[in-house]
Amino acid sequence: MRRPSSRRDAIIREMGLGPVWRLRSAARETDDGSTAVAEMPSPAAPAADAAAELSSAPMPSHRPQARAGGDAAWSREHGPRTGLAQSGFAAHTESAHASRPAANMPDPERPKRIATLEWDALEAEIRSCRACVLCEQRKQAVPGVGDREADWMLVGEGPGREEDQRGEPFVGQAGRLLDNMLAALALQRGANVYIANAVKCRPPHNRTPEAAEIGSCLPYLERQIELVKPRLLLALGRPAAQALLNTEISISRARGRIFDYKGIPVVVSYHPAYLLRNPQDKGKAWADLCFARKVMQQGS
Ligand code: URA
Repeated sequence: MRRPSSRRDAIIREMGLGPVWRLRSAARETDDGSTAVAEMPSPAAPAADAAAELSSAPMPSHRPQARAGGDAAWSREHGPRTGLAQSGFAAHTESAHASRPAANMPDPERPKRIATLEWDALEAEIRSCRACVLCEQRKQAVPGVGDREADWMLVGEGPGREEDQRGEPFVGQAGRLLDNMLAALALQRGANVYIANAVKCRPPHNRTPEAAEIGSCLPYLERQIELVKPRLLLALGRPAAQALLNTEISISRARGRIFDYKGIPVVVSYHPAYLLRNPQDKGKAWADLCFARKVMQQGS
């Protein structure tokens, strides 16, 4: 039985939701062991419009719906694809050394080869990758972290300064917020959660990774997803969504919808770093997490 705790109060404070979050039904919380779906913000809460958006969002169906009709339908609705995987930026990585400049000769065999790698070889390859310019200024590549058999797989944008130094995703300020958000769902990295990034090397000055860089790194993310076999993918921010869905999206328009990545439902939310800059949207991110959990529950 889960009870409101000072730990959870601290989490909710950290998320900027303040004391306005109240239990809608304590009984429900007790029954199903959940912490978040049973909670709704008061009308005055910053999350009030998130709750409204959530309830007006299309009900998640068991089947992924957002790409029904296939690529052509998607393109009609959202415009041409960015062609990440087809960017031609991919290049081979074998026996690379840090001092070597990035190669940029397309290697059509590289994605196929990466698709066969098991965990150790995959991580070793990521760590020695020279496939795009991002390798040139990194301290180290950041493959991913967590439970390799997780139901939840979170995808971020790319390592920042602290991640570059420590070799683990989301260990800076944004990561602490992410951990708190996960904790509010009784989740934690490493326990049924795997975390990876769209690009594995830090973009200089934390700039947004370019489509070609995301495309170059995509075979790694694809292989990670294939190995983890998550039941749900949560894309944090536009570059992550772009990597998974191979299209440009607007987070605010994509929230509350279920997309599809090779049969795995994809839910889209704001990046924690965005939330640090725009704390007024933390309530929406919280609603997105609750939505993701609902999707997960419906799929079981
Ligand atoms: N932002 C990300 O997208 N990923 C990280 O690992 C850290 C910050």
